[in-house]
Amino acid sequence: PRPEAGGGTSPDKLLAPVLSAFWDEPRSWTLETYRRHEGYEGLRKALAMSPDDLIAYVKDSGLRGRGGAGFPTGMKWQFIPQGDNKPHYLVVNADESEPGTCKDIPLLFANPHSLIEGIVIACYAIRSQHAFIYLRGEVVPVLRRLHEAVREAYEAGYLGKDILGSGLDLDLTVHAGAGAYICGEETALLDSLEGRRGQPRLRPPFPAVEGLYACPTVVNNVESIASVPAILNRGKDWFKSMGTEKSPGFTLYSLSGHVANPGQYEAPLGITLRQLLDMSGGMRPGHRLKFWTPGGSSTPMFTDEHLDVPLDYEGVGAAGSMLGTKALQCFDETTCVVRAVTRWTEFYAHESCGKCTPCREGTYWLVQLMRDIEAGKGVMSDLDKLNDIADNINGKSFCALGDGAASPIFSSLKYFREEYEQHITGKGCPFDPRKSTLWA
Ligand code: NAD
Ligand code: SF4
Repeated sequence: PRPEAGGGTSPDKLLAPVLSAFWDEPRSWTLETYRRHEGYEGLRKALAMSPDDLIAYVKDSGLRGRGGAGFPTGMKWQFIPQGDNKPHYLVVNADESEPGTCKDIPLLFANPHSLIEGIVIACYAIRSQHAFIYLRGEVVPVLRRLHEAVREAYEAGYLGKDILGSGLDLDLTVHAGAGAYICGEETALLDSLEGRRGQPRLRPPFPAVEGLYACPTVVNNVESIASVPAILNRGKDWFKSMGTEKSPGFTLYSLSGHVANPGQYEAPLGITLRQLLDMSGGMRPGHRLKFWTPGGSSTPMFTDEHLDVPLDYEGVGAAGSMLGTKALQCFDETTCVVRAVTRWTEFYAHESCGKCTPCREGTYWLVQLMRDIEAGKGVMSDLDKLNDIADNINGKSFCALGDGAASPIFSSLKYFREEYEQHITGKGCPFDPRKSTLWA
């Protein structure tokens, strides 16, 4: 059912387990389990279409990129020039690292074949014979499981030469990164994959025109590609029957923080945090929501006034934030917002690649100011300085990391300026450290 904003739809009807449908089955990650759940059926249907028809079909489904930006997936595939004599590549961005985001890694751990099937379908569509998965290097158990799934897929004839007798040849390489947030930015990822230091490239040219080894490349998020087999298998109309008109389909929401039951919740786009909290058991007992992020710390924070904002690209945008990675980090009234923003700011300063001045210098200065304010050493003019520095990063940096760093500064000052002022006038944090779990 299409979700109604503002509650009213019963929680059990809101859950739409597709990618997560059998995560709790024993050995859910194996080919045998995947096949018992319609595994590789979408691929058979895809191979019966022409590549151009397949691209048009995915475009018509309305699937939008699940990595954060929501760019239409079919359109991205369509950008790949046809009839050229360069190799085409598909690169799956599995370098999930936006704070609070934890959907792709569990998906790969529990159901890696949905990604592999999606990769074969996408490569057939864009006429690619070599795909790569760029995985966050720290998650060694996921790396092992992915290698095993790729081995199974080769053995069963879903990868390699003449896949399912279609004439399609495809090799899949799994590459582990070394743990830098910036390598999740698609062009830094490509540099890193080529063996260089991971730093963003100038866009345009976009990877679709000049990507890996300067060849046309589609870079897609794990969840985007893993969603494709179900769309092929069950049909684009089934997919469009969920979500909203402009943001159709199901998706994985990562619910974390001071909630009773953190985890992955798969539901249609356009539901609200209120509905998600209703179905998941709410905030931890005895506490109430103070602020939250709709899509990780890079997206402007919301407060309890935004509980009924539809979680789709348009709804969240209209309310002044971005859907991003759908990482719903919920903080209750025991959380010091200055402390939380300081931690995020330290993260961005640490992960800044240093290529451009506004981000490299600006994130450093933001950290100094935030630490001073948090420690009770701030003065009132620091608040304008914070705004000013964030303003000089936002929109003036080379890549989205800079904007992400500015975002929690702007939104926390907008909604919680008084709390900043209390730190300054009271010469310290007004929160009792022993009551706040964030101080542990
Ligand atoms: P973007 O909007 O610039 O681009 C989105 C995608 O569309 C890219 O693949 C880009 O190549 C493609 N694209 C855009 N315009 C194009 C054109 N004219 N021609 C061809 N292709 C085009 O967004 P971005 O800077 O790539 O990513 C920012 C997003 O990343 C943010 O929304 C954020 O939520 C997300 N993010 C995610 C994580 C994570 O861990 N998943 C971490 C940090 C940020
Ligand atoms: Fe590097 Fe930050 Fe500039 Fe991005 S915005 S290129 S991370 S210094």
